[in-house]
Amino acid sequence: MRARAVLVPVVLSLLLTGCLPAASPPDVEEPAPAVTANQDGTNTPEEFSRDIQAAEEIAEEYWEQRLGAGFSPVRRLIPYEREGDVDCAGEPLPRNNAVYCSAGDFIAYDVNWAFAAFQQVGDAFLFYLLGHEYAHGIQARLGIRKEFTIEQELQADCMAGAFIGDKAREGRLEMQDGDTQELADGLEAVGDDPGQPWFAEGAHGTAEQRMKSFSAGYNDSLQACGL
Ligand SMILES: [Zn+2]
Repeated sequence: MRARAVLVPVVLSLLLTGCLPAASPPDVEEPAPAVTANQDGTNTPEEFSRDIQAAEEIAEEYWEQRLGAGFSPVRRLIPYEREGDVDCAGEPLPRNNAVYCSAGDFIAYDVNWAFAAFQQVGDAFLFYLLGHEYAHGIQARLGIRKEFTIEQELQADCMAGAFIGDKAREGRLEMQDGDTQELADGLEAVGDDPGQPWFAEGAHGTAEQRMKSFSAGYNDSLQACGL
């Protein structure tokens, strides 16, 4: 996937400054994806940094276009390396994870895990991951609090799909060979284990449910997500 813009590499900062006001617990995310081939051969750390930064910028741009005046971007994007480097409302964030923390209005991700996923699944996965976490930030802004975790999660997948689909239609993102497969592989990898009850607190949805929600947003934009 390629962003059509001049991109400056992001300097990955491991410092979390400021303190977090108490609020809801972190949205704990998925386990590490399964290994598959990166389809387009762009897997250097520099490329990773550029893609993360592009995904953040384009997500900001997208939601600003949709929500208009008064929209405030998610405050920060924080990479971390070790469990407990970053915490959300007093709860240390674990390895192999990415979350949106409403208490501090930031997205944090295990940088080694995300880089491994980028190398193994592909660059499109980063746009999905960022799009999904950003969607939680938007849900917080809109005051959306579904009854079950799975509803919150599947809506975020749908919103991530709308973000990527709309930006591709707009010509801001260019879908390259293999991107669709990368997204499918990524969603397959982050599906809940069979046997996870749909109403469980940590449920995100099966691979099939996640793919269906993502595709609905990708094809039909935000109206498919109830927005
Ligand atoms: Zn989530």
